[in-house]
Amino acid sequence: MKVLILGVNGFIGSHLVDRIMQDTDWEVYGLDLGAHKVAEHLANPRFHFVEGDITISKEWIEYHIKKCDVVLPLVAIATPKVYVTDPLRVFELDFEENLRVVRQCVKYKKRVVFPSTSEVYGMCPDEEFDEYESPLVTGPIPMNRWIYSTSKQLLDRVIWAYGFQQGLRFTLFRPFNWMGPKLDSLNTAKEGSSRLVTQFSWNLFNGEPLQLVDGGTARRCFIDVADAMDGIMAVLRNEGGKADGQIFNIGNPANDYSVREIAAMMIAIWKDHPFRLERGIAEGSTVETGSGEFYGKGYQDVARRTPSIKRMQATFGFEPKVSMIDSLKKTIDFFVEEHKAQEKVVETEN
Ligand code: UDP
Repeated sequence: MKVLILGVNGFIGSHLVDRIMQDTDWEVYGLDLGAHKVAEHLANPRFHFVEGDITISKEWIEYHIKKCDVVLPLVAIATPKVYVTDPLRVFELDFEENLRVVRQCVKYKKRVVFPSTSEVYGMCPDEEFDEYESPLVTGPIPMNRWIYSTSKQLLDRVIWAYGFQQGLRFTLFRPFNWMGPKLDSLNTAKEGSSRLVTQFSWNLFNGEPLQLVDGGTARRCFIDVADAMDGIMAVLRNEGGKADGQIFNIGNPANDYSVREIAAMMIAIWKDHPFRLERGIAEGSTVETGSGEFYGKGYQDVARRTPSIKRMQATFGFEPKVSMIDSLKKTIDFFVEEHKAQEKVVETEN
């Protein structure tokens, strides 16, 4: 199988390449702005990397959609801070650029595996969000946060409609707070525009308090990226065509914690972490902050986000295994290494 991954150097793309190279004989054609997360595969003859931007490398993309069997358009902005500060960029990249790719999949009759998002459920009141039953609930227009959710939702609907009317082969998968090594870059945390675990890691390294937005009562279910990869690989293998025309939540309802609880877990890990002890960095602490202050106006939070994974379980026997604490440890260790590597670069530059 020939797999085209746009955004191959991202969190999901890079882990997917690891798995595909390790477990299959598939070929991967990948495009991204850089290759640091997939560097170890660059010499592998089954991995064909090209440096490029999906807004510019249009001919390369069209040619490779024609050439490949399945397309994963993973290029998107997925950080709430950016939804609030630069909603147009989110729309242009996440919606417009991806629509072009989807249309080419229709034109060349290629299978598309599209990353929808748990954000599409928004403030859904259901206890567990179900792919085929739950309503998708977003906020008013001045709340920029919802541009991501609604951009993704409309693409989900467009893909569904292409399947319905023109026979497009597709699967929509919805990541619920995937976490692990290679998550965001610490640089985004430095600018204050990162996701929760990256932001908290950065704060811990710098002896800063972890900021609990609106008291840290919002709850999320986190899944370790290794478990998430089991899910997405099953979708890609698509045995018996079971993934065709389907929507799947990929998450771990067992790892359901409030932001405050996550902060406490990270502080506990940090307390005994060799890196902290070696450097004499402060023990972690927390401080409460308002969402308006932290994100600016235009932010509205999601209070709870619990996936129903019964479809993944029934279809593929999907069973996530990694606990929150183990996943946090792995992720923090990864960031520690990244932090050390960045310090080395600064030293050499000086
Ligand atoms: N959050 C927080 N402090 C931070 C970063 C995030 O309290 O430094 C909260 C945020 O308000 C939300 C939750 O953590 O309730 C998860 O945010 P994240 O950015 O990871 O994205 P989301 O899960 O909302 O897509």
